[in-house]
Amino acid sequence: MSPLQPDPRTCALDDRLAGRVVAPNAPDWDRARRAFNLALDQRPELVAFPADADDVAGILRFASAQGLRVAAQRTGHNAAPLGSLEQTLLLNPAALDTIELDIETRHARVGAGVVWQDLLPSASQLGLAALHGTAPNVGIVGYSLGGGIGWYARKYGIAANAIVAFELVTPDGELRTVDATRERELFWALRGGGGSFGVVTSVEFAVLPIAELYAGALFFPLARASDVLHAWREWTAGLPDEVTSVARLLQLPPLPEIPAPLRGGAFAVVEAACLTGAHDGAALLAPLRALRPSLDTFAAVPPIALATLHMDPPEPVPYASQHLLLAALPAQAIDDLLTAAGPGSGSRLLSVELRHLGGALARRAPHHGALAAVEAPFMELAVGMAGSREQATATQLHLDVVGEALAPYDGGARCLEFLEARCDPRAFFDDLTLARLRRVRDRYDPDGLMRANHALAA
Ligand SMILES: Cc1cc2nc3c(=O)[nH]c(=O)nc-3n(C[C@H](O)[C@H](O)[C@H](O)COP(=O)(O)OP(=O)(O)OC[C@H]3O[C@@H](n4cnc5c(N)ncnc54)[C@H](O)[C@@H]3O)c2cc1C
Repeated sequence: MSPLQPDPRTCALDDRLAGRVVAPNAPDWDRARRAFNLALDQRPELVAFPADADDVAGILRFASAQGLRVAAQRTGHNAAPLGSLEQTLLLNPAALDTIELDIETRHARVGAGVVWQDLLPSASQLGLAALHGTAPNVGIVGYSLGGGIGWYARKYGIAANAIVAFELVTPDGELRTVDATRERELFWALRGGGGSFGVVTSVEFAVLPIAELYAGALFFPLARASDVLHAWREWTAGLPDEVTSVARLLQLPPLPEIPAPLRGGAFAVVEAACLTGAHDGAALLAPLRALRPSLDTFAAVPPIALATLHMDPPEPVPYASQHLLLAALPAQAIDDLLTAAGPGSGSRLLSVELRHLGGALARRAPHHGALAAVEAPFMELAVGMAGSREQATATQLHLDVVGEALAPYDGGARCLEFLEARCDPRAFFDDLTLARLRRVRDRYDPDGLMRANHALAA
């Protein structure tokens, strides 16, 4: 078909929508199908941008009639596990961008197009914080459907369990309000069970009265990685739940957008958010400060400061990643990690990080959803650039080396939202939870219309 000829299927759908449809012959096709990870080349049949929930229902009915499956995707921060999008319509809810912040009830209600950075500045100004993660450009819905582990995690737990209601269009085209009293099984499944149950159009969740915290990063030359990582590991053993921290090996590219003291540099870094007040935070940090960092950014800050603390990429980039949940982190694990990715290892990975979990993350409660707890005490996440075939191959090699080095400490479980590879769903859920999730999916999506990033299979 010539680029100027309208695609008849697009017209058929376009006529029914207040939003729009983009087909492979459209001038903005490449932009519409692009995922955050530029190493991926997503090729769906069509991309639809609904304007409202009625549009979502129309898109689901159209796809079903056409024999297409539907993949909901806001940013594509976890697009890799989807694989080929053949016979699939990509539904991007970007235009569902409403934000309501109720100071009285301390609830936020946002459309499925809202990413964390759309909400966090106004919330922070009002002295409110939300359970966001390190990347401010991640979709709130996608993050929460997968669980959501962020800077307040050890004190306030998994973000999904702070959700009080969803609105979603199920594959039969019905718009449903789902909460603790309506469609309770669906409410349970959506909180950590992923995107297999329909297209979420909005989500309502609790926000926290936090006006200030003590947060920042300590940068050390990479050559000191052994001292720093060992000291951090020992430090985490005595921390209260008010402190959530990350230790990482960071090798920054020489890009102009990276500030001068860090550009092109290689560091061992400790980042932390302390909900303790500045005085107690500084006291807690003292053993790490005693190592004399070359740069110390810790200060009393408003919650918005956490949006950029981890320096995640603000714009789409080509990358590959690898992730494990660690059952234990003995001193030997630090040595093994340093052999794989530390000074002298030859690793060119951008970031190899260890996140301290535990605290509220590990505590189950009866009202929690499908991801009731994350029991592993530590998580490992490594990322490298994949801008060319050669770079992707080299990065994968380094990622494998890190994975193999930490394999003895691997607890076997994975976080659904962090894992960017296809995986047996038994790594995300225990047998009972997985069976219950499949029952909910089979009830609401018996024909398998939805294509989630991580399928529940069977
Ligand atoms: C740089 C980076 C930093 C990250 N940091 C953190 C972190 O600190 N903590 C953390 O927990 N996670 C983190 N993640 C993981 C992130 O939370 C997941 O990638 C999450 O899935 C992103 O949601 P998204 O909507 O932006 O991504 P997308 O790839 O657009 O969506 C992911 C999946 O969510 C589902 N989905 C999205 N929207 C809808 C919808 N409206 N209806 C139904 N299903 C939907 C779909 O199954 C989709 O495949 C990070 C990822 C990256 C790349």
